[in-house]
Amino acid sequence: MSEVYFANLHADRPSRNIPSKIQQLFERARLGETFQKDDLVAIKTHFGEPGNTTFLRPQYVGAVVDMVHQSGGKPFLTDANTLYVGGRSNAVDHLNAAVRHGYNYPVINAPAIIADGLLGKDEVEVEVDLKHCHTVKFGAAAQHAHSILVVSHFKGHVMTGFGGALKNLGMGFGSRAGKLEMHRFAHPEVDLERCGGCGLCARSCPQDTIVVKSKACIELARCIGCGECWVACPNDAIGPQDPQSLINIQEKIVEYCYGILKGKQGRVGYMTFVVDVTPHCDCPAWSDRPVVPDIGILASLDPVAIDQAAADLVNQARGIDGTRLAHNLQPGEDKLFALGNIDWTAQLRYAEKLGLGSRKYKLIELE
Ligand code: SF4
Ligand code: SF4
Repeated sequence: MSEVYFANLHADRPSRNIPSKIQQLFERARLGETFQKDDLVAIKTHFGEPGNTTFLRPQYVGAVVDMVHQSGGKPFLTDANTLYVGGRSNAVDHLNAAVRHGYNYPVINAPAIIADGLLGKDEVEVEVDLKHCHTVKFGAAAQHAHSILVVSHFKGHVMTGFGGALKNLGMGFGSRAGKLEMHRFAHPEVDLERCGGCGLCARSCPQDTIVVKSKACIELARCIGCGECWVACPNDAIGPQDPQSLINIQEKIVEYCYGILKGKQGRVGYMTFVVDVTPHCDCPAWSDRPVVPDIGILASLDPVAIDQAAADLVNQARGIDGTRLAHNLQPGEDKLFALGNIDWTAQLRYAEKLGLGSRKYKLIELE
């Protein structure tokens, strides 16, 4: 059974403010033991797509950076470029987006380095020989850093049910070729009865593969399975052709985690912020209202346990009415499944099977 440390968000004096809680979590979860003095410590996070407003606050990540400095490490912020066209598909746009969102030196006290370089091609390829992938391809900085701290925003996700530590690590570090491989075969289909012909899906498609006359029509031969059209559709008229493809994508993400973690035993730690739990991830250029009230912050050395704990906390909370959730879901109801009917446990089951961690955990709340 793994230990997951938890801090709630009550903050009524300086010694109990959020940065001090992050500091306590860092110490109690022994995240400082994942690196040694002068080690290069990659802080893997997500700077938020331009237009999105619920990405992780830079002040949260800055508090983690401060702890790495205090513990003798050399932190740098990092993420890999996106597959789809948007504000983060090359290192120049990506860094500009990060700065506009407050991820800059005066705020964070650490440089930002795009893990897979200018155009998403600075990658390493690691052999894993697993069910879906023979090799995995991810940003070279993830391999070359001595240690990794995975600092994640927990929220819903259109293809995986939720995005947490595993997704931040596996999909997030994937190079362009790696992300293509993970998304491959996740082809969409249009529900013609729901489609109102608005054209938003066509405008969001990075492959220009959707034509809308009175209804949307997708040319699947050129589709890369990125899911942008699903997220864009206001009528929920686009979804996966084959539900199994969403299980496969979760398992591929886990295989990427497996490859990235290879050779880094004891050198990776996790902190997850269960705040602003929006229906979609931080990649769309907007943020809907959250589906549950803000919950707290988790820290652990186990990526499976921390994701399971975050999912459990969300599902134990009451749902907020007036969001994508059609009904005011009660404590105990599965909010993550309600977002898109996706079996989000697939990633946790497979990660546990591959030995990346345990779904059984002990939640230890800070005083
Ligand atoms: S976004 Fe949805 S409703 Fe609009 S054209 Fe595309 S499928 Fe139809
Ligand atoms: S059709 Fe949809 S899933 Fe396929 S490339 Fe275009 S936006 Fe991505």
